[in-house]
Amino acid sequence: GKIVIAIDGYSGCGKSSTAKAVAKDLGYTYIDTGAMYRAATLHFLNNHLSATNPQDVEKGLKSLEISFHLNPENQLQETYLNGLHVDDAIRSMQVSNNVSRIAALPAVRKDLVAQQQRLAKKKGVVMDGRDVGSVVFPEAELKIFMTADLETRAIRRQAELLEKGETIPLKDIIENLASRDEIDSTREVGPLIKVEDAIEVDTSNITFAEQVAFIVNKARE
Ligand code: C5P
Repeated sequence: GKIVIAIDGYSGCGKSSTAKAVAKDLGYTYIDTGAMYRAATLHFLNNHLSATNPQDVEKGLKSLEISFHLNPENQLQETYLNGLHVDDAIRSMQVSNNVSRIAALPAVRKDLVAQQQRLAKKKGVVMDGRDVGSVVFPEAELKIFMTADLETRAIRRQAELLEKGETIPLKDIIENLASRDEIDSTREVGPLIKVEDAIEVDTSNITFAEQVAFIVNKARE
């Protein structure tokens, strides 16, 4: 039968692209929780809302509407923030440099976790993030914890950004990934941890196709 697959791990391990491919192979729904934290961050930045002002946080959450829609032309899932398609904007360095601060706010996590649980009411879901196996779906049948060494992750991320026309020095990307990992791992609510029942997949030395096949095979077991 259909299951819930939780894919957590460090920043820039290729969780999203892996999760997307696994979902496609299995005919499952893919839910990118990172896109939701990124959209919330873009919303705070666009509206000059401060993460340290509780009234601003409340205002930001009240006026925040995130949804996913399938583009019928290319069958790709797109992220919408208050009615606007934001997939490019949420993956800018500006959002990457602020997202972990916003994602550490307990009120933000409470809101987005509840949305994520509603989005996955039906089984047959692949969800990637930091706290999917620990908080969002502790009962997920398959939990993967992805890792890769920092430099490998940074080089891959740099190539992705270049493809979108953003030229970022490797040093800046390494700094961003390391700082997000640090904030994500040490926050009070929903910290990034490898839960006991998660299978660790180190992608430093395997190909993309291999990591996808590994997870798909586990799901079929
Ligand atoms: O997955 P992605 O790298 O796009 O996530 C961006 C940021 O969103 C992470 O660095 C983290 O701060 C936050 N996040 C989170 N919990 C999740 C998914 C993402 O805190 N489940």
